Parts: sequence; structure tokens; C-alpha cells
Amino acid sequence: MEKVAEAKFPSKFGNFKIYGFKSENGKEYVVIGKNVDNENIIPVVRIHSQCLTGDTLGSLRCDCGDQLKAALELIEKNGRGILIYQPEEGRGIGILNKLKAYELQDNGLDTVEANEKLGFDPDLRDYKECVEIISYFKFKEIKFISNNPEKIRAIESSGIKIVERIKLKFEKNEFVKNYLDVKKKKMGHLF
Ligand SMILES: [Zn+2]
Repeated sequence: MEKVAEAKFPSKFGNFKIYGFKSENGKEYVVIGKNVDNENIIPVVRIHSQCLTGDTLGSLRCDCGDQLKAALELIEKNGRGILIYQPEEGRGIGILNKLKAYELQDNGLDTVEANEKLGFDPDLRDYKECVEIISYFKFKEIKFISNNPEKIRAIESSGIKIVERIKLKFEKNEFVKNYLDVKKKKMGHLF
């Protein structure tokens, strides 16, 4: 994992830095960071999987946009931390396949069934490179924002200690309720 850029990044969520990382196989990661070198504060860490529809287009089919904003607000409030923007649209299947899955869901399948029908595993994401980025910042103890047991496992098996797990909770609209129920029942997410 190579850091290729580092710049100031004032945003409406706070005063951050923005980093560009490139993995060995050429994958590009954007990281938003706050006071990464301040060893007096335990950093808050979030691995956010890219979601064009939720993050940028205001979709109510998922809660990604709310999660992204809440994570950046928490990092600002904590005073130290990073958000890794993982380039894995649609849990790794890509934007067009995600839209095809939406089409299948409109016809009655749930998210997991739709991915299977398209020939994909329910979740193709791999967190190894994200863990490398956390290690790059030399974080040994973190507060981790996640409901996803796979992410938690990947971090803990690398020797980084999660001293606090922060859960994000939102009002459920009627579209997102079904999506979150499937996450909980079929993918083991913790709410
Ligand atoms: Zn989403």
C-alpha cells in the first residue's frame, strides 16, 4: 500500500486531510483523516464502502449516505481518526450490476437473493487492504464504527485492538427497512 498524495481537506464536516493510496494491484483508495499523529486521542476508524447511489445521489434504498455523514461527524467530534473510502461499489459487484440487482429486487427478491441470481456471492469485499491502511497510520488501538462482523474480524486478526465498537443508528424509512432486515438476518450484521 503506497501513499501517493496528501492534502488539506476542509469540508462541511470539519477540517480534515485527504490522502490517496494505491494498492499493489492498482486499486485506488481515498482516506479522510483528522489529527492522525495525535497520540493522546484514540482514533475513530470507519471503513466506508463506496455507494454512488447512497453517498452522492441521495438514495433511500440504503442507508450509506447517512452512515458516511455520521462517520465524518464522529471523527470530527472525536478529534482524531480516519475514514477509508473503499472502492467496492455494490459490495464489490460494480455499479451496473448493483442496478441490475435493484431491478431484481423491484421484482420481489431480497439483496442477497438478487446477488446470487446474478451469479455473485452476497459479499465480495475483502478488507485486507483497508487493514494495511490502518496500519500505515500506526494505529494500534482504535474505536471502530461498524455493524459488520467481517470487518471487525479482519481488523482484530491483524493485531489492531478495537477498544470500542460504535454502532450507527438511523430512523428507518420504508425502503431501507427491508434492506437492513436482510443485512441482519442473512449477513449477520449487528444492530
Ligand atoms: Zn448504499
